[in-house]
Amino acid sequence: MTAYLDHAATTPMLAESARAMVDELTTTGNPSSLHTSGRRARRVVEEARERLGAALGAAAGEVVLTGGGTEADNLAVKGLYWARRTQDPRRRRIAVSAVEHHAVLDAARWLADHDGAEVVLLEVDGLGRVRPEALAELLAADPATVALVSVMWANNEVGTVQPVEQVVAAAHAHGIPVHTDAVQALGHLPVDFARSGVDCLSLSGHKVGGPVGTGALLLRRGTDLAPLLHGGGQERGLRPGTMSAAGARALAVAVDGAVRARAGEATRLAELRDALVAKVQAVVPDAVLRGDPDPAGRLPGNAHLTFPGCEGDSLLYLLDARGVECSTGSACRAGVPEPSHVLLAMGVDEPEARGALRFSLGHTSTGAEVGAVAGAIGPVVERARRAGLVSSTRWA
Ligand code: PLP
Repeated sequence: MTAYLDHAATTPMLAESARAMVDELTTTGNPSSLHTSGRRARRVVEEARERLGAALGAAAGEVVLTGGGTEADNLAVKGLYWARRTQDPRRRRIAVSAVEHHAVLDAARWLADHDGAEVVLLEVDGLGRVRPEALAELLAADPATVALVSVMWANNEVGTVQPVEQVVAAAHAHGIPVHTDAVQALGHLPVDFARSGVDCLSLSGHKVGGPVGTGALLLRRGTDLAPLLHGGGQERGLRPGTMSAAGARALAVAVDGAVRARAGEATRLAELRDALVAKVQAVVPDAVLRGDPDPAGRLPGNAHLTFPGCEGDSLLYLLDARGVECSTGSACRAGVPEPSHVLLAMGVDEPEARGALRFSLGHTSTGAEVGAVAGAIGPVVERARRAGLVSSTRWA
């Protein structure tokens, strides 16, 4: 048995979503064509838009379909920046939390390197949470220079839930738009776009049982956004390119399914997660749970631990050899020998941050998989520590 504990990297497709995808892939029609096949495909896309919006508290007209979470994040950060700066050239500052996914951080940094932006990193506390009071102070000092605020709904590495509503209150007091990356929150926490107050929200299909390469940006009506791409005018000109009826339908089925199953799944996963942490710490007492230990402040399927004296990569490969698949943090940085920017921002020191493992649970997770981690972790940590001693001069 392989214990798959990397659902935050990608989660298996839901059967209904895969069926919808295949069904649509075998049917022809460009949603922009005017003939019968085109109109049918267009109907599929618009029904998907309705369904997705309804599941998330958004109007169909507020759903901009994208090719995934990374694209939605780039569209939000660059699109808001360009639109706001065009209205007022003083708006050059982009306030982002220090623990954002690289899709947000690197988009903001790109604007700083190439287009006159200034990135203001919002510090987090030891649990990985931004302080809305600090944001309020920062914005009040010089609101006319801020283009946008971007704070994720929940962190992909340590699972910390951010105070999004307070962030919105602080930014909206000065008329500054807020983007949130809800890629990891969706399907695990109640996500209601209208109620959250944010101006735009990113989501990704493959994190909720839909296809890789699908996603959306929910964009509040009346929010000005400049497109990244130019072409055929699809998605109201905000995301031109031939629309994928198969992708849209499969995405909507997955989001709807994940939202409907959420409450029950959250309880089930939190129990499995707590059991996993308890079992690991019973075998490795000095393993430290990172992020918020209070279940209310943490994604239900996230267990992030650091193992003193170990290299996360060594732990990962040794666990993999024993049939346990997990991550050292963000899959997008795998292979890059740097400690996580998230842990460093939380004040974890570099040697400790190097020994990080993220176990993330999802809809196929079972108690047997948790048992497999408990069975493997002791010898794996022992072996990684021995290897760490041998190679400890590497980081000197
Ligand atoms: N944002 C967060 C918080 C993520 O965890 C990820 C994926 O790891 C992304 C964005 C990128 O999404 P996608 O893989 O759909 O591009």
